Amino acid sequence: MRPFLLFFLALSFPLFGQEPVYDLIPRPAELSPQSGFFTLKKIALVRQPGGFSPFKTWLEAKKGVAVRQSPKPARKGSIVYAASPALPAEGYLLHITPENVSIYASSPAGFFYAEQTLVQLAEQNDGRLPCALIRDQPRFAWRGMHLDESRHFMGKEFVKKYIDWLASLKMNVFHWHLTDAQGWRIEIKKYPKLASVAAWRPDRGGLLNSEADTARAGEPLTYGGFYTHDDIREIVQYAAERQITIIPEIEMPGHTTAALVAYPEYSCTGGPFPMPGGAKNCPYPNFCVGNEQTYVFLQDILREVMDLFPSAYIHIGGDEVERQQWQKCPRCQQHKDSLRLADEAQLQVYFTKRIEDFLLQNGRRLMGWDEIMEGGNLSSTAGVMVWRGENLAREATQAGHPVVIAHNYYFDLYQGNPLYEPVTYGYLPLERVYRYNPVPAGFSDEQQRRVLGVEGCLWTENVYDTRKAEYMIFPRLFALAEVAWSPAERLDWPDFQRRLPALFDWLDRRDTHYATSVYDPEIVVTVDSASRQLSAQIRQQIPHGTVRYSIDGIPPGIDAAEYTRPIPLSAPCTLQARAFWGTHRFSKIISVPFRPSMASGKPFALRALPDKRYNGEHPEVLTDGLDGAEAFHDGRWCGFYGDDFGLTIDLGAVQPLHRLEMHWLEGEGSWIYLPLFMSVESSDDGLNWTPVAQLTKAEIAAKAAGRIKPVAFDLGGRPARWVRIYGKNPGQHPVYPDGKCWLFVDEVRVD
Ligand SMILES: [Zn+2]
Repeated sequence: MRPFLLFFLALSFPLFGQEPVYDLIPRPAELSPQSGFFTLKKIALVRQPGGFSPFKTWLEAKKGVAVRQSPKPARKGSIVYAASPALPAEGYLLHITPENVSIYASSPAGFFYAEQTLVQLAEQNDGRLPCALIRDQPRFAWRGMHLDESRHFMGKEFVKKYIDWLASLKMNVFHWHLTDAQGWRIEIKKYPKLASVAAWRPDRGGLLNSEADTARAGEPLTYGGFYTHDDIREIVQYAAERQITIIPEIEMPGHTTAALVAYPEYSCTGGPFPMPGGAKNCPYPNFCVGNEQTYVFLQDILREVMDLFPSAYIHIGGDEVERQQWQKCPRCQQHKDSLRLADEAQLQVYFTKRIEDFLLQNGRRLMGWDEIMEGGNLSSTAGVMVWRGENLAREATQAGHPVVIAHNYYFDLYQGNPLYEPVTYGYLPLERVYRYNPVPAGFSDEQQRRVLGVEGCLWTENVYDTRKAEYMIFPRLFALAEVAWSPAERLDWPDFQRRLPALFDWLDRRDTHYATSVYDPEIVVTVDSASRQLSAQIRQQIPHGTVRYSIDGIPPGIDAAEYTRPIPLSAPCTLQARAFWGTHRFSKIISVPFRPSMASGKPFALRALPDKRYNGEHPEVLTDGLDGAEAFHDGRWCGFYGDDFGLTIDLGAVQPLHRLEMHWLEGEGSWIYLPLFMSVESSDDGLNWTPVAQLTKAEIAAKAAGRIKPVAFDLGGRPARWVRIYGKNPGQHPVYPDGKCWLFVDEVRVD
């Protein structure tokens, strides 16, 4: 008997000693922990509604749990489902006691979400359910996630996995971006070339989207794919079983190149158009809105789309239309004139309304990106998905549109330091996803009611495969799910940070890739204002694990020095840091060459401070010994919006100066321009200035082929204490008169 007893004790002790865990994602509206556990061993599901059951599926996958269906509860071991019409749609009440579990809901969705809660609790508590009373319901009715499959076709299995994540996180809308310039992904029986032609482009694997060129004549078009009607029915059904509505997006009247490669007769010029390979040389023809046949074509397509997708809303895109093309089209112009429309923006509104009327006649509603409001006079019944910022959310809700907030949730943006992340644009850290309030202060009650909810977007221009898609989505999707579901007052950023490691484990169990960028060390160099001593500080977006570092060029391993306080710096070195957590987990190695000059740590004056987004509060990065990289969100550059650059450095004493060097950045696509001219001067008294040199914009541009333009000046060993640099901002943006030019400057060195 003795060996058996020991075995029993060994097995059961850790279990009975364990604290209950209630780390639900998203956090429920109300949760009251109670003592004890409900053990999942022999259980009866009583009056369980039919359909897909995530909890039953989980139980069946688990060995050693005997599950039976039963018409009535037993004294112990029952999980009882009870219809409770008074509960809100999608809400549920869950009572877990040591004897039984009761689930109350008014809809299949409510029971479904209660079951997702049971699965999470069971996973976190070694297969038992900790006792609790949970009353839960979503904050928003629209809890969406978008996937762009036009740029890269990901396929049915990935889409199902995607739907599984959403269902587990109590999200309920999958916005499927099926058509765009680079590919058409849905079979349309009446127009077979949309599948046979528009779904295929040249293979540009390994290239950035911006470098992926349009097809050459005769080039094989092998890259792509599309969903057949059967595929789509299967996926729509799969999603519906998981309480998810799929909103299809069929882009019109812009972002339509692929469709017009196949059917150029519906463009203004008649084509032909080459198939895009990405963004390079990609033509962006619009549908001709002055051609009646275009409406026949689009309505035929939408009929098949509505036949496949039962969603209340059909998304028609409507963003980034190059409307000036319509100015050159006689049919579009004739249409505009006969309808007495003021401009091409109104022509797009006319087009949108016509498509909306067609959808309404078929019992559906239109949704589009926020540009569909431009031109005014759009019917307030049209749904608006806001992607260009809070002002548009304000405008759309004021105009009476139902609104979905997407602008703060672009998961294709950088989530960490661009130097260590896959190439993309912008910056959207996890914390901003979590902490941004999608219903900003100042919205009236009526405006608030018009916000249907929130949606994350994954645009895939540079997301070539599913692994990278997963990396971009997680962990940001966790934050979005909580914003979408949990009451605003239950959002708790510190608690979310605490739960994050367990959420990464959750992804590991689902064989899902993710980014741990929030744990990557960030190295910044600061100056003590009294001693002028430079030191390196290492931070993380979310402090976690142990950060180790080296300054000797050897990559930091588990035995490297632990970072506990700022590291004093004087001589040039390579700073490297890495975070370690758990037994075998570690971050990327962050490596930063530190190359100080006489200017580092010295006081300076600026003519105008940088913009606050680019070190307005930390202009000392100009001389901190760290160089800004081409990825200009790296935190090292000072950006001046519309202002001239004027810097005066005080080196503290008159001494012979030999050389001054600095970097300008050029990135006109991002509105970053070189100065019209620049000048350098020196002084030994701070009053009288000796010119050193002047350079024109062309001379600066010629310094290097890349975007970073290093300029260097020979100071000739002249004794001086002050140096002064000036750069002239071009001011108004040359294309967009409302905008201004940026000047980007980093690392000024004086020796
Ligand atoms: Zn036209």
